[in-house]
Amino acid sequence: MQYRNRFPTGIFRAAMTASLLTFPKGGVHPSESKDLTAQLPIETLPIPDELDILLSQHFGAPASAVVKKKAEVSEGDIIGEVEAGLGAPIHASVTGQIKAISTAAHPVSVSAESITIRTDPDASAREYEPCDWKTLSRDDLLAKIKDAGIVGIGGAGFPTHVKLAPPSEAGVDTLILNGAECEPYLTTDHRLMLEHPQKVIEGAEIILSVLEIQDCRIGVESNKGDAIETLGQAARDNAAKGGPRITIDTLEVKYPQGSEKQLIQSITGRRVPGFGLPFDVKVIVQNVGTAAAIYDAVVLGKPLYEKVITISGRGIRRPANLQVKIGTRLRDIVDYLGGTTPELAKVVMGGPMMGFAVPTLDIPMTKTTSGVLFLAEDEIDTRPHSQCIRCGWCLDACPMGLSPNEIGIYVEAGRAEDTSQFGLFECFECGSCAFVCPAKRPLVQFIRLAKMKAKK
Ligand code: SF4
Ligand code: SF4
Repeated sequence: MQYRNRFPTGIFRAAMTASLLTFPKGGVHPSESKDLTAQLPIETLPIPDELDILLSQHFGAPASAVVKKKAEVSEGDIIGEVEAGLGAPIHASVTGQIKAISTAAHPVSVSAESITIRTDPDASAREYEPCDWKTLSRDDLLAKIKDAGIVGIGGAGFPTHVKLAPPSEAGVDTLILNGAECEPYLTTDHRLMLEHPQKVIEGAEIILSVLEIQDCRIGVESNKGDAIETLGQAARDNAAKGGPRITIDTLEVKYPQGSEKQLIQSITGRRVPGFGLPFDVKVIVQNVGTAAAIYDAVVLGKPLYEKVITISGRGIRRPANLQVKIGTRLRDIVDYLGGTTPELAKVVMGGPMMGFAVPTLDIPMTKTTSGVLFLAEDEIDTRPHSQCIRCGWCLDACPMGLSPNEIGIYVEAGRAEDTSQFGLFECFECGSCAFVCPAKRPLVQFIRLAKMKAKK
């Protein structure tokens, strides 16, 4: 989708943000649009009558169901496991009975296998007792993270227990927690840092312990001043009790500040090579939400089966930050929030820059859902695209220094296979190029198509 381009002038913006940390190349300044939900405390969505828990919620092989139809399950039970390869277990988010093992709408792959649970209305919420995790070994901590099904909840859902075990020769020395939340509209990380700072800080301490390092930096964009202050206080309180050094770095508000490579460069000045990984520059990055989920998994023994999401846009009657059970259907969320408005033009899973338009409200929430936007006509750009006018704006906007204009031209000419020379596989589909393009060219769609064809 194209997100409407409404950025302020570069000179004014640069003057305002000269002292803040940022990455040197490219980036854009979309309208933040966070005011609809930034001040709204997290509320808990009532448990719906039924949920669809997708078995494909992480990077790697989908899980297989380990329960049968009509089985009784309790909140937190494992219902799906990955037999071989990369993956993470899936847990029941409610107590109830397995109604079906079939398929449900999927945010990216149209549909996927899922387990439908009919909720027991008389069941009470499962309670968890905190444990003293400091007595646990590194292997025990990793096992707890793995068993709880923790994946990177701010991105593609990469299994966290794998990411936290980099090769020892990498010599990782720095943990970065990503609290940038640079996508417009989304405020889940903001509210989490503000309302549960101690979970984020102790989650960071657990990760440092697993990585056997001392230095943690948390990057937060300057538009979340209250969260910066609250987290900073929690970090100081933790340090006063003998905890490790955790510093909060204030970042310039610039998209895509929260992408791994840009965040690392902003905070440490280290540049991850084109096809490299963060540990190539001795860094591991985790989202602040993942750190909080690690706290739940390790300290409480609670698996990842609920999460905070933002519901926003002028197409929903009551925008909100909601804690939802994984598997909750979007339709139940919309009903709870009073329905949609007549202005609704498009529903997008995720942020407006990197999210996907979805055609149905039957889609269930997953471990990686950060939010759902209900956008009105004037929040999106529906103008048709035209020929490339060779203005070069997309080259200036690309944080990776790629040539998206050339990729688009080659794809249109039926030469998608020849586009790797323009950095095709270094593109992480941030959408900055399409955002600035005056010809409204669907550059990210061209890039996805070229990747598909080049892989074939
Ligand atoms: S989508 Fe890809 S080509 Fe476009 S700006 Fe982002 S990284 Fe660069
Ligand atoms: S911004 Fe659009 S019109 Fe300008 S060079 Fe890039 S693709 Fe072409």
